[in-house]
Amino acid sequence: MSDNNPWTRTRKQLHIAARRFPIDPLLLARLENHDRIVEVSVPLKMDDGSVAVYQGFRVQHNNDRGPYKGGLRFHPNVDKDEVKALSFWMTMKNAVINIPFGGGKGGITINPKDLSHAELERLTKEFTRKLAPFIGPEVDAPGPDVGTNGEIMQWIREEYEKITGASAPAVTTGKPIKKGGSLGRTEATGLGGYYALLAILRMMKRKPEGLTVAIQGFGNVGSFLAEYLEEAGMRVVALSDSKGGIYIPSGIASMHEVQRCKEKTGKVSGCYCIGSVCDIGNIKELGGREISSEKLLELPVDILVPAALENALTKENAKRVKAGIILEMANGPTTAEADGVFKSKGITVIPDVLANSGGVAVSYFEWYQNMRGEHWSKKEVFKKLKEKMDSACEMVHDISLQYKVPLREAAYIRALQSLSAKTAGVKKNGSGKKRMK
Ligand code: NAP
Repeated sequence: MSDNNPWTRTRKQLHIAARRFPIDPLLLARLENHDRIVEVSVPLKMDDGSVAVYQGFRVQHNNDRGPYKGGLRFHPNVDKDEVKALSFWMTMKNAVINIPFGGGKGGITINPKDLSHAELERLTKEFTRKLAPFIGPEVDAPGPDVGTNGEIMQWIREEYEKITGASAPAVTTGKPIKKGGSLGRTEATGLGGYYALLAILRMMKRKPEGLTVAIQGFGNVGSFLAEYLEEAGMRVVALSDSKGGIYIPSGIASMHEVQRCKEKTGKVSGCYCIGSVCDIGNIKELGGREISSEKLLELPVDILVPAALENALTKENAKRVKAGIILEMANGPTTAEADGVFKSKGITVIPDVLANSGGVAVSYFEWYQNMRGEHWSKKEVFKKLKEKMDSACEMVHDISLQYKVPLREAAYIRALQSLSAKTAGVKKNGSGKKRMK
């Protein structure tokens, strides 16, 4: 299998870390495999009366540290290997950020943009009926990912509660605030990435002000991150989405306006804003130019942020990357070969399992509030998020110095340490001598 196969890559990453920090062979074997893969067909009645059948997955990788946790992705590229890799990364991520969850992930192979709102709801509820026996607040609690959102999480909750006949707000996270969602969840992944970047810059003894940034992907994660970076005085010079991007070397003036423009036109491309007027006609005055999402990765910037999908950075384009720091907000944006190139070029990669873990950290806060009927303020959520991100970054950075390894390897070592400690605890507390009758 190629280097671009994310599932093959996860096993390589696991073995590299396990060579530095040897773990119980049984734990290694468990991490190399999945606890369960649920594969379902999802028939959908379309608005015109026809029926289409889609493929759905939920992969439950490991629950040593708590219920399986991870997003649901609705995207045409969803396949089993992708979901397997994503669920593995969730196990590692939750261990790195030290929250009591295991790893899971799921999705449907579909382009949700092709469906009407009513079709999307029917699809989600049919998928939930198929998943219901395998999920639950203390078993497996999905959250949003690419192509899904709070409304979809609420539909899942409603359908799950209908099936089980019990109130179960914590069966999903990322719900709308009025429906049991946590304040701050929408911003959490972008904000967590921002906290991670600031923490690592601090450790590198670099100031954020004036650093230039290019961001690939302007969805939930990329757009919030861009706003926080702008607020911190960094200069975001390029942004893109699936339809292309914009590049203004002197800096994009207002993320908020670009966001509004994208909402209106459906794309970032052409969103050259002067005040509240965003139009391609402003391009000359701003000294900007249109740029493809691929070329954005090769711009001369201080910080590159892949915030779209897997495998954006490959052996082909890695050698042309000019950024000194890569903040991996997408899951798995860097192939193993590209990672090797970055290591040899001395580029600092802040790995996905650390950089984008703010989302699942606040998902855990939401789950915790739902389980206890609590409601935290946004200030409280952000404070707790910052503490989590700062402490995980410090830990990973220390391991990277101790073992003389890049941050990705250090993050994996940290995850293996947490997972080993948990397994050792289970062994100690359980009676190894008990046999089933
Ligand atoms: P999203 O809201 O669906 O946004 C994805 C963005 O990527 C969109 O702007 C999309 O463009 C863009 N995109 C898709 N294909 C692209 C391409 N080929 N080139 C450039 N841009 C492309 O998803 P998201 O929640 O921001 O997630 C982004 C990444 O972060 C994913 O890898 C996800 O797994 C990861 N992540 C998300 C969270 C979370 O809490 N949401 C947490 C951890 C990790 P269009 O706008 O044109 O569709």
